Amino acid sequence: MSSDQPDKPRRPRGQATAVVQGGRDPFAHHGFVNTPVYRGSTVLFKSLDSFERRDQRYVYGRRGTPTSEALEAAIAQLEGGARAWLAPSGAAAIATALLTFTRAGDHMLVADTVYQPTRKICDGPLTRFGVESTYYDPTIGAGIAGLMRPNTTLVYAESPGSLTFEVQDIPAIAAAAHAGGALLAMDNTWASPLYFKPFQHGVDISIQAGTKYVVGHADAMLGAITVAEPLAHKLVAEAGGLGICAGTEEMFLGLRGVRTLDVRLERHWRSGVEVARWLEQRPEVARVLYPALPSHPQHELWKRDFLGACGLFSVVLKPCAKTALAAMIEGLELFGIGASWGGYESLVLPFEAARARSATVWQPEGPTVRLHIGLEDVDDLKADLDAGFARLAAAG
Ligand SMILES: *Cc1c(COP(=O)(O)O)cnc(C)c1O
Repeated sequence: MSSDQPDKPRRPRGQATAVVQGGRDPFAHHGFVNTPVYRGSTVLFKSLDSFERRDQRYVYGRRGTPTSEALEAAIAQLEGGARAWLAPSGAAAIATALLTFTRAGDHMLVADTVYQPTRKICDGPLTRFGVESTYYDPTIGAGIAGLMRPNTTLVYAESPGSLTFEVQDIPAIAAAAHAGGALLAMDNTWASPLYFKPFQHGVDISIQAGTKYVVGHADAMLGAITVAEPLAHKLVAEAGGLGICAGTEEMFLGLRGVRTLDVRLERHWRSGVEVARWLEQRPEVARVLYPALPSHPQHELWKRDFLGACGLFSVVLKPCAKTALAAMIEGLELFGIGASWGGYESLVLPFEAARARSATVWQPEGPTVRLHIGLEDVDDLKADLDAGFARLAAAG
């Protein structure tokens, strides 16, 4: 049966199928299931004429290989965008996107709760290059129209926000940005390309720290920028021109990670909800900041726009001594202390967000801790945290 019969539209396929199939072409590689790692700088041409016209599919390692194309195709398809470009890290993807889509004299609106290194890129190199940033309350929604200036060319969102997990009204922000002639860029790392479809909600440029759930095993750094069709040519020309490319091994690990993204995220989500609900009942906890919980201030927005939640959220504890918190955290056996997240293992990280906010005030009731809920047995995670709370009480 041919799938191109106009009266018989092909049934749309689901996400689990897309993660398995995306970017794969076994018979272009002698039938091997996985796209091989092409290690290459030089690509040979058959004639001088051919070299002068660069008339072949691959011209130089930095400009693309079958391996990079496979991962870019998979990510672009899952995000719902037209074209992706890989970067050596999530931070590099953010910097590259901002350099590509702004110019001197431009004004940007940036969510106050962005990943902190993003704020440093805006306040550092972009400011030096004559691009001004104003930070906005991530819950502003359509009100962002009031902050648009004639030279506002880019609105930058991250939903939910880093550390404090405010969910943004992306469709409302997209409408206001577009009405003012600006593009909307978004860091989509928390939801991964599976649980938020940026291009269905008006985003023009989506950024993924592939280091997190795409790679999924805490063993590689990777980033991706995905854009809508009108921006594809510029992305490829500028990001390629800046020399941005990912390492071959890292691309392979990204491709390997993609294939299990659907099943991994489902477990991170289920365990995340279970641990978060359990934490909410604890007397030591003031609040749990997790969009998937009905108690979250933007839970309804999350339900409206997201297809799921990952295993990352924060907990505001009731006031306690720093030594008591240290006793709790340092004794945990299953939660490692460390930056990043998205691997298979659980992590814990105390944080201070107040000084990283300029448009909003962050005044938690007590110490704040970010948790990444990994793929361990959820009862073991709860038991580990339970023992931690006992240490907290004993030390307090
Ligand atoms: C980790 C992270 C990044 C940066 O990714 P790296 O690969 O570590 O550079 C960007 N955005 C968010 C939301 C992140 O959590």
